[in-house]
Amino acid sequence: MAKVILKSIKKIYPGNVQAVKDFNMEIEDKEFIVLVGPSGCGKTTTLRMVAGLEDISEGELYIGDRLVNDVSAKDRDIAMVFQNYALYPHMSVYDNMAFGLQLRKLPKDVIDEKVKEAAKILEIEHLLDRKPKALSGGQRQRVALGRAIVREPKVFLMDEPLSNLDAKLRVQMRTEITKLHKKLQSTFIYVTHDQVEAMTMGSRIVIMKDGDIQQIDTPQNVYENPENLFVAEFIGSPQINIFNGTVVKNHGKIELRLEDDTPIHVTEEMEKILEQRGYLERKVYVGIRPEHLHEREIQPLHHNYSMICGKIEVAELMGAEKYFHTTISGKQIIARVDSKSVKKSGDDIELNYHWDKVYLFDFETEKRIF
Ligand code: ATP
Repeated sequence: MAKVILKSIKKIYPGNVQAVKDFNMEIEDKEFIVLVGPSGCGKTTTLRMVAGLEDISEGELYIGDRLVNDVSAKDRDIAMVFQNYALYPHMSVYDNMAFGLQLRKLPKDVIDEKVKEAAKILEIEHLLDRKPKALSGGQRQRVALGRAIVREPKVFLMDEPLSNLDAKLRVQMRTEITKLHKKLQSTFIYVTHDQVEAMTMGSRIVIMKDGDIQQIDTPQNVYENPENLFVAEFIGSPQINIFNGTVVKNHGKIELRLEDDTPIHVTEEMEKILEQRGYLERKVYVGIRPEHLHEREIQPLHHNYSMICGKIEVAELMGAEKYFHTTISGKQIIARVDSKSVKKSGDDIELNYHWDKVYLFDFETEKRIF
């Protein structure tokens, strides 16, 4: 069993830099966990503590059932794949993959079998005699993965392994790593700053900011039920549209007013919560995702739909869809509509949204109200 448990893990660097503040998580055997967040949020430090490359300032780290705080990296039964591959340039692909096993003094035929098996999984059997400099970026990354696979670790740790690849190859390797995880049936902990990688690869995602965990959940839940404004803005591309609003009562009905007085309607359930929790006359952040803004022409105004209006400043055709950039209530917003839309830059546009698709966040705590 390769469960990884982080109990109140903290990392304080000299100068009282609190890189990781209080990390608590149980990573189940065979999970694919992605740590994601902006630069400096503490994700690499967390991974390096799990790897044993960085001392843990406070807290307990378990791999399997073993407390490993004081166990050295090489005895933790983990393998780490780095961003820069860290291959030995003077060695062949075969030797790069075999090296760790040779150090462990495994019999030659066992090493040979493991290297060839890993090469087969990664489809690099034809490259075994080459030196790293004669490989493409994607092939080098496969060799780095191969070197980790042959060790048959309980846990794979990966730190931005795809960031040196071009966009197309990154997408391809992303799928490869997901397949590899299924094939190997081991626990993966993967660090990235790219929310698309996190969303597509993780069975659960850990979103971090300033050394703190913001949310741990499945990609779908993080997207649909962000716990705070930061998560809502970090996950999703294009970003969620955020307006400043005030909760008001109009003809007995609770609604939001944006800064230019545009009304935003919410469901009855949401009205109740706003009233019960004392939000009347208070400021809130109002969020609507770009794909929840529909073009009026395409979808007539149904019950529980309302409309906001703007002028298209830029229309971008993305292939299957179009992005309309417009300004509403002083905020730059994006609507993600069908590519068949005939609207173009300079046109007025009416955008529908379902009341159910409105997110509200507390103005002070930035926590989601609904
Ligand atoms: P990136 O995506 O840029 O790699 P990250 O989320 O992985 O960022 P970390 O590298 O874990 O972030 O760094 C977290 C914080 O700890 C940062 O503020 C960083 O400056 C600080 N830090 C990292 N290493 C050290 C160190 N050796 N000494 C002091 N502070 C450090």
